[in-house]
Amino acid sequence: MLTATYPDVSLFIDGTWRTGARSEPVLNPATGETIGTVAHAGTADLDEALDAAERAFRSWSRVSPHERYKLMRKAAELLRERHENISRIMTMEQGKPIAEARIETLAAADIIDWMAEEGRRQYGRLIPARAEGVQQIVHREPVGPVAAFTPWNFPINQAVRKVSAAIAAGCSVILKGPEETPASCAALIKCYEDAGLPAGVVNLVFGVPAEISNYLIPHPVIRKVTFTGSTPVGKQLAALAGAHMKRVTMELGGHAPAVVFEDADLDHAIKLLSSAKFRNAGQVCVSPTRFLVHENVYERFVDGFTEAVKKVKVGNGLDESVRMGPLANSRRVDAMEALTADAVQQGATLLTGGNRIGNNGYFFEPTVLTGVPLSARIMNEEPFGPVVPIASFSSSEALFAEANRLPWGLAAYAYTRSGTTADEFSRRVESGMISINHHGLALPEVPFGGVKDSGYGSEGGTEAMDAYVNTKFVTQYAV
Ligand code: NAD
Repeated sequence: MLTATYPDVSLFIDGTWRTGARSEPVLNPATGETIGTVAHAGTADLDEALDAAERAFRSWSRVSPHERYKLMRKAAELLRERHENISRIMTMEQGKPIAEARIETLAAADIIDWMAEEGRRQYGRLIPARAEGVQQIVHREPVGPVAAFTPWNFPINQAVRKVSAAIAAGCSVILKGPEETPASCAALIKCYEDAGLPAGVVNLVFGVPAEISNYLIPHPVIRKVTFTGSTPVGKQLAALAGAHMKRVTMELGGHAPAVVFEDADLDHAIKLLSSAKFRNAGQVCVSPTRFLVHENVYERFVDGFTEAVKKVKVGNGLDESVRMGPLANSRRVDAMEALTADAVQQGATLLTGGNRIGNNGYFFEPTVLTGVPLSARIMNEEPFGPVVPIASFSSSEALFAEANRLPWGLAAYAYTRSGTTADEFSRRVESGMISINHHGLALPEVPFGGVKDSGYGSEGGTEAMDAYVNTKFVTQYAV
């Protein structure tokens, strides 16, 4: 079980790594031990980052898309070369199994490549004019300096989507990275630095999240705000951005229905759902959450799924044989205990799991609950952890009502052999992303984003660039 040397993480402002006003410890969630520190930015640091981002925007926005592309491709290659060490650091700070950390790091390089390519394709258009001699042109221009806020569950992936789309479009960025998992995020930024990104184009800060967002979002230098995290925080930040007329992208929580229809290939559904649910210990915004299973296959599904869950090996993510690591912090363990206790107290049956594991680190058992009433908290709050409530349904009307009952709409999953059912599911479920008979979300080239309380804007596909460009219309009469 090889470890890596965990670094003390600095701020990166105007092309220089530096200590901040204060620092806080970083813990390994598998052991609870302090493994390093992360610097906190004070107001003076933020002012310098704002100055740098403003200056860098003026020059970077004029660098040709082709030059930006070449530099970004170099950063992607550096990330690939360094991925093993960065993945180990990620597992040490976040807890996820090393195989998942490798996938995240390598996928980030693919995301950089995709955004770099898209940056070269920010085509404007020519609109046919009504009068002779008039030329009507639409330009797509970079929006300006961006304030980006990213969470701890995917320390690289959440940051790379924002940073790469922004700089591909010609924007500069101040990224507030995740204080609990800062080093892998900093390693991503270092790849950009080493690829030759000019000083100030990307600045990385950490600190007290509310202090930083309250300072950056209203600041006149910042033209765009992008946030990934919980819905309550997203609503606060969107309101603040709205008060200052800043453009916003919000990638927030979800409570994805995972529906198993009567005609599903049950073995396939059990295999894929039992694997997807425990990825990153369930701390995934698109995690399958409310399992809704047709009553005619309910018992067989519950038996098979519970057997599969009992086989999930839990432990330190650096052990290659481990399938689920610890939760990222003690708050999540407390939340899993509370949600499970509430469901059982309201009449649910605990089929497996339900307890924290050991006294060191933040481990919680993969947990399955059945007979959970709709009033239970877990049927109404995003669990963000390895606890699965399974309910049955009989009619499709009841199913669609339940699938759309909650305020979120990020991801939804269905298992069926019927094309008609698949079509109806994809039309009727209110969700930004739908995945049928497999789990195929979050590739660089496909849209990624939600509706309703899950936020707005997309962080993947050709749509990803829209967030970082303004439309400018020019009409000109040839005199
Ligand atoms: P939280 O809601 O306080 O924080 C969520 C994220 O928002 C963190 O990264 C945090 O640093 C940031 N944040 C909090 N307040 C902020 C502020 N005022 N300004 C800027 N950033 C701020 O709580 P938490 O315990 O870290 O996570 C709890 C819940 O958040 C989870 O249960 C889950 O629902 C949600 N979450 C979602 C994602 C996602 O990928 N959408 C990621 C992490 C957490």
